[in-house]
Formats: sequence, C-alpha cells, structure tokens
Amino acid sequence: MAAKKKLNTVKKMKKKISKVKTKKTKKIAVKKVKKIVIDTKKLLKLDEARKYVIDIAGEKGLEVFEFLIANGEMEENFLAKKLKFEKANAIRKFLYKLYNKNLVSYRKVRKNNKAWYTYFWSANSSKLVFIIKGMYEDEIKQTKKSMELNKAEDFYVCDICNRRYDVNEALQNDFRCKNDGGVLTHLESERILEDKQSRIDFLNKKLNELKQLVK
Ligand SMILES: [Zn+2]
Repeated sequence: MAAKKKLNTVKKMKKKISKVKTKKTKKIAVKKVKKIVIDTKKLLKLDEARKYVIDIAGEKGLEVFEFLIANGEMEENFLAKKLKFEKANAIRKFLYKLYNKNLVSYRKVRKNNKAWYTYFWSANSSKLVFIIKGMYEDEIKQTKKSMELNKAEDFYVCDICNRRYDVNEALQNDFRCKNDGGVLTHLESERILEDKQSRIDFLNKKLNELKQLVK
C-alpha cells in the first residue's frame, strides 16, 4: 500500500512538472525518473500548511489528514473507528472538504458482489507542498511589485498638515509647506523597502526549506 501511495505521488508530480515545463525541458524531466518522497512530518510542522488544512476542514479535518499521511491508505470505516468518530458518515464530511481541495483521494472497491462500495482514502501530501509553494511565490511576486511602486513614489510630507509633495514640488518650496510653512520630511520609503526586502528574503528561505522536503 505504501509503495502504491508513493507511486501515485510520483505520477502526480510528474504530471505537474510536464505541465509547467516547456517542450525542451520536458524531455529532461521524463528522462530523470526520480522517486519523489516528501518529508511529511516536516511539512505538517509548517504553520502555513497546518493553517491551510484547518481553514479548509477545521482542526478535526487536520487530524484526519495527518492520520492519513502517517498511516497511508485506509478504509473509511476503519479510519472513522481509529479517529473515534461515531459513524463513517461523520468522518465523510471532513474527507469531502479535503477532497474538494484535492488534499485526499479515494478509490472505491465493491467486495463480494455486494451492492455497496467500500472506500479507501489516502492523503495527497504533494498537493499541499504545491499549494504552500504557490502561496510563498505569490507573496514574493506581490511584494516585489509593491516595492517597484514604492520606488516610483518619492514623497515628502508636511509635519503639520500632512500634505504630500513630490520631489519637484518640495524643491520649489524649499522643503516648506505652502499652507502653513511646516517642514517637509521625506517619507520613510527606504525603511518600507527594507522591510519588504527582508520579507522577501524570509519567504525565499521558507521556499528553500519547502523544496528540501521534496526528495
Ligand atoms: Zn502643511
């Protein structure tokens, strides 16, 4: 079962890679048949990862997800029993929430020609890695964008009325306010830029840590 889970993960990752890569790099990606294993213990220690799962399926949903990650594919009734749910129905609510975000998948098996199916659930940890990676990357992109805007805006502000002046206006008025003669001081854009840069550095560090979880 564990081997199958790994195989599924590899298949999915490959699918993702081939979607993203161009034709030229696609060849390389296919040539390198490398097993992708995710350090799920470390993954679930990431605040962002836990928060994401909780936002989707609540604390109980996170418990279900963690349990599936730790134990591999599991039959629904057995899973419900293990996690002390009264009925399989009660756990299904959480499983569907996770399923809607592709964090878990299932396969159904009809046993001994019975009318109903038995459901086996497993966690897609690679999906979670991709989501968190996307979150970091999006924020880096947004922060870089706003840094560009900050650079473009070079403002001075009156210390009395807070009126804003651009550089030329401030120069023309000898760095004094037209309204009240207040002193024009440079907006702390440099400090803002520094803050944003250190946020980007932090996110890049997190991104690297995340990449190290995928072997
Ligand atoms: Zn003023």
